[in-house]
Amino acid sequence: MKKYDILLADADDTLLDFALCEKTAVTLLFKEFGVCPDDGLLSAYSEHNDQLWKRLERGEITIKQLVALRFAEFFSDHNIKGDGAYAAIRYKQILSRCAYKTEGADELLRRCRGKVRVYIISNGITDVQTSRFRLAGITELVDGLFLSEDLGAKKPDPVFFEKAVSSIGCFCKEKTLVYGDSLTADIAGGNAFGIDTCWYNPHNTVNVTGILPDYEIRDHSELYPLLGI
Ligand SMILES: [Mg+2]
Repeated sequence: MKKYDILLADADDTLLDFALCEKTAVTLLFKEFGVCPDDGLLSAYSEHNDQLWKRLERGEITIKQLVALRFAEFFSDHNIKGDGAYAAIRYKQILSRCAYKTEGADELLRRCRGKVRVYIISNGITDVQTSRFRLAGITELVDGLFLSEDLGAKKPDPVFFEKAVSSIGCFCKEKTLVYGDSLTADIAGGNAFGIDTCWYNPHNTVNVTGILPDYEIRDHSELYPLLGI
């Protein structure tokens, strides 16, 4: 039974395979610094970056500090010789060209066309994200992009959602679903703003956060009945 007319969908690790994008970009970057990263170094970087994004979500650091810190700290911790600030600039350039969709994301967006309005909600960096959405072929399949850097607020802050939906015509909370992989950003944000939420959990991660979604799914196709597509 169709319940929702508007989908507010997260990008990274929901519609886009960020793990693959990050692995590709970091590998290319580290090679420029003379390091051939093995899986251990790549997952250490990924963990380091995740922690920085969690600190950003908690308001402990700004996006500028995150960008400045991620390679400077990591290089220093792993004895990699190189200028962290320069690496940050190169990483942005390389990541901007890494855009792979998750399994089933393309079909979900194509089925929604003309039936369900879809807006991307992302905490990513504007110029990086807009480039990746364009390359992944997402931009032309959605009705709008809401990026934290543009809005001056980030998920899970209700201000982010308030500013985003203020430009959506015929918006109704009851007919809108927030969809994303992050309990702390997407689901907590939707809950705080009073919109139903669906947690995309393809790897069957155990929820230890206490943050409860209205729905939990493993595959994008499980959204079809809720959206009537
Ligand atoms: Mg995400």
